Amino acid sequence: MSKSVKSIYVTRPFLPPLEEFQPYLEQIWETRQLTNNGPFHQQLEEKLCEYLGVQYISLFANGTLAMVTALQALRITGEVITTPFSFVATTHALWWNNIKPVFVDIEPETCTLDPDKIEAAITSLTTAILPVHVYGNPCKVDRIEEIAKRYGLKVLYDAAHTFGAKLKGRSLCDFGDMAVLSFHATKVFNTFEGGAIVCHSKEMKEHIDNLKNFGFQGETTVVTSGINAKMNEMQAAIGLLQLKYIDRLIDERKEIADTYREHLKNISGINFISDVKYMHHCYSYFPIFVEKEKYGLDRDALYEKLKENNIFGRRYFYPLISQFPTYRGLESALAGKMPVAERTAKEVICLPIYPGLDKRVIKEICSML
Ligand SMILES: *Cc1c(COP(=O)(O)O)cnc(C)c1O
Repeated sequence: MSKSVKSIYVTRPFLPPLEEFQPYLEQIWETRQLTNNGPFHQQLEEKLCEYLGVQYISLFANGTLAMVTALQALRITGEVITTPFSFVATTHALWWNNIKPVFVDIEPETCTLDPDKIEAAITSLTTAILPVHVYGNPCKVDRIEEIAKRYGLKVLYDAAHTFGAKLKGRSLCDFGDMAVLSFHATKVFNTFEGGAIVCHSKEMKEHIDNLKNFGFQGETTVVTSGINAKMNEMQAAIGLLQLKYIDRLIDERKEIADTYREHLKNISGINFISDVKYMHHCYSYFPIFVEKEKYGLDRDALYEKLKENNIFGRRYFYPLISQFPTYRGLESALAGKMPVAERTAKEVICLPIYPGLDKRVIKEICSML
């Protein structure tokens, strides 16, 4: 492949046609309702509940603030069991709440928290489990729920990668005490920046809505020491527009994933994740795992080679969260404690996947491999 090919990145955000945004802007200019639970905000909450098949959603300025707030809404304290194989915000949200993360290894098939290893990490201080549906792959939700029930723990899912994904017909965002979504530019559904919490009662939604708006309940009453984490009307308007396209976008992602699999399946030492049974995936990422002994090159060598050819994959998730300076002193973070996560972080590259990615480029990437 010639170097003249333009740079291809791991993702490229989808935007609806600009002229479709114009009427929304006109309405905002007309009404001067810019934020604070405006009409677009209300519509987007309603439409998202419908689309995702969940009962209650609270919109946020971004996913990280949603996560920080969800932990407070659930009154989670002490220690929380979580995965090191995620974006660093998952653990940062605990840290910002003065909660100690306790890292537990992942399972190799889905790269999600390994339920077989959770119980050994539970102590008298444990109050919750924070698993991540990483790459949109479903955690072992039934096993995790069973353990949580037995020990009286809360379950908060980081569902930042799972927009539109369904397990046996049920939205993956519907599991756990709460699930947190991200609508960041790089995600399957984007509002530039944005996020949400899915919860299961009207009272809890009201509590979350207070928490994200300084603790205000009405005009003069402050019921809790809340933060400002509100989504604004521009973000909500973009979200309403994006929803019109989302099914098409996910279909397109599926086609890309299928094309990769078709072309990569016979390369020894390049492994990928198969779709989970009874799962409607959203194909947020396409990770491959490079087994050096069989493939000949190690992951970093392949990553550099692709870069030389203007293909910019990303090593999600490397380093592990547990290897960052803030966390690596924790006992659960020590080297050798999480062999599966450590190996996975050394082998993974996420290949470009986004709506509009040319089929010929995918084939070229595969032939480079
Ligand atoms: C993107 C992401 C977040 C953070 O979301 P923001 O909206 O960027 O704050 C949290 N967890 C995971 C797994 C993510 O990928």
